[in-house]
Amino acid sequence: MQERLKALADLQKVDLEILALRKSAEVYPRQMGELERELSLAKGEVEAERNKLLDVERQRRTLEQNIAEEKEKVRKWETRLSEQRSTREYAALAREIDIAKKANATMAEELVELGKIQVQLRELVKGKDQQYAAKVADVGGKLNELRAKVAGFEGQVKELQAKRAEVARGVHPPLLSRYETVRRRRSPALVTVVAGTCQGCNMSVPPQLFNTLKTTLETDICPSCHRIICAPEAIEPPPAKKE
Ligand SMILES: [Zn+2]
Repeated sequence: MQERLKALADLQKVDLEILALRKSAEVYPRQMGELERELSLAKGEVEAERNKLLDVERQRRTLEQNIAEEKEKVRKWETRLSEQRSTREYAALAREIDIAKKANATMAEELVELGKIQVQLRELVKGKDQQYAAKVADVGGKLNELRAKVAGFEGQVKELQAKRAEVARGVHPPLLSRYETVRRRRSPALVTVVAGTCQGCNMSVPPQLFNTLKTTLETDICPSCHRIICAPEAIEPPPAKKE
């Protein structure tokens, strides 16, 4: 076993661990986004009901004002009615008053109906508010769990990166720089050649190259995928001898 190569294999192990960790953490931002969307959707629902309620309240105020104005008009007309000398004018005004009173009665009925709708909407909004509060608590809890996971993940990555820096110091600099170059394009960058086949790309390497790898326990480059290749025994301890 080659100590220098063993250091590179160890470095790759740490790199693959970091990679797997990052992969497993990819879901967190998406999950958090989904929860936030869920929350804003629920908020939108409450707001929609609240707006309906506000609208009904506005309608009621307008109607109340109209009714008050109409009543005042009727009151004035009734005063004028007693002052009418002509029968024809009296009859005409009396008819106007009658029409106004009927319109007022209709508006009063509408007001009662709006009052009923308002009560229903208030109940609905109250219910939706409670649902939303429960959702905020539930989603908030889940978001906190995810934030804790993200923080834990970041801590793990930091630890692994510290370990990586330490392991990297044990790798011969030219080999390390070659490894870094290959790693940017292919992972894993260091692979073994087993029975003449590169374990990175599954292509055969020339027999001469395979023989050299086995006898020297050095590294070379796969002619097909350009990964760093070596014999398995160069980085793996030989199988334990049977007693
Ligand atoms: Zn290859």
